[in-house]
Amino acid sequence: MRENKDRICIRELEVYAHHGVFPEETRLGQKFFVNATLYTQLRAAGTEDDLSLSTDYGRVCQTIHSFLTEHTYKLLEAAAEHLAQQLLLDFPGIRELTLEIRKPSAPIPLPVSSVSVAVTRGWKRAVIACGSNMGEKERYLEEAMRKIADDTKCRLLRSADRIVTEPYGSVEQDDFVNGAFLIETLYDPEELLTFLNRLEAEAGRERIIHWGPRTLDLDIIFYEDMVLRTERLIIPHPDMHNRTFVLEPLAQIVPDWNHPLCQKTVTQLLEELLRKRKGLGEET
Ligand code: ATP
Ligand code: CA
Ligand code: CA
Repeated sequence: MRENKDRICIRELEVYAHHGVFPEETRLGQKFFVNATLYTQLRAAGTEDDLSLSTDYGRVCQTIHSFLTEHTYKLLEAAAEHLAQQLLLDFPGIRELTLEIRKPSAPIPLPVSSVSVAVTRGWKRAVIACGSNMGEKERYLEEAMRKIADDTKCRLLRSADRIVTEPYGSVEQDDFVNGAFLIETLYDPEELLTFLNRLEAEAGRERIIHWGPRTLDLDIIFYEDMVLRTERLIIPHPDMHNRTFVLEPLAQIVPDWNHPLCQKTVTQLLEELLRKRKGLGEET
C-alpha cells in the first residue's frame, strides 16, 4: 500500500510528435495528449510555501514535451515506458507515477475518439543479501556495493556491517564474509536478478557445485511485500528464515521489515532461529 497519497496531476498536455507504426505517422507527426499523476510528498512544500521543497510541475511538463518531441517510438507503450523512467530519474521527489499517452487521431478506420496507453511505475524497495568465500572476499562485496550504488536504476539506502560466518551446507570450504543492502530500484524483480547475476559474473563467479565456494553471491531476499514463485526466482528467498548469516545483517538494516508469508519481522525471525538453535544445543 502506498503510504502517501499526495500527488500532482497534469492533465491533457498537448505535444505534437512523431510516434507510430505507420510511415505517415513518423513523417507527418500528430497530436498526442499526456496525463500524468505524480506521487510525491507535498507536506513540506505546502507548510513552507516553498517550490524548492516540491516537484516543479512546469519542469515536468517541459521534460515530457522535449522527451516526446526528441524521440520517435513505434509504440505508445515504448514512449510511455521510457518517458516514465526518465521522469523518475530526473525528479527525485517522484516516488511513483501514472503516465497516460493518448492519441486522438490513431489510424483506425472506425469511429473511436482516441486510444491511450497508461503505465504505473515507481521506485521499489528491495533487500539483497551478499556473500563471498573466495579470494579477496571484502573487495568483491565492496565492488558489488559500489556497482549497485552507481547503477542509474538503483539507489543504495543502507548497507549492513560485514560479518564472518562458517559455511552453510555440507561442502568443505572457506569461511564466508556476509552482508546485506537495502536499495530502491526501478528494476522489476526479474530485471533485478539479471542485473545481480551480471555483477556475479563480473566477479568471476562460476556455478560448479550448489552451495559451493563463490567469489560473489547476491540473493534477493525481499522485494516490497511481494510474494513470487517463478522458475528463476522465488521471493522472499525461501531459506532466509533458516540462516543467521542472512538474518543478522538484515536485523541491522531492516529490523522491522515484515516477512509477507510468515507475518513476522526480521527481528522476530532472528530471535526465533537463535532460540531454536539454542534448544538444539548448537552454537551460532
Ligand atoms: P541459495 O539460493 O540456497 O542461497 P545459491 O545462492 O548458492 O543458493 P545460486 O547458484 O546462486 O544458489 O542460484 C541458483 C538459482 O537460484 C539462480 O539461478 C536463480 O535463478 C535462483 N533464485 C531463485 N530465487 C532467487 C532469489 N530470491 N535470489 C537470487 N536467486 C534466486
Ligand atoms: Ca545464496
Ligand atoms: Ca544466489
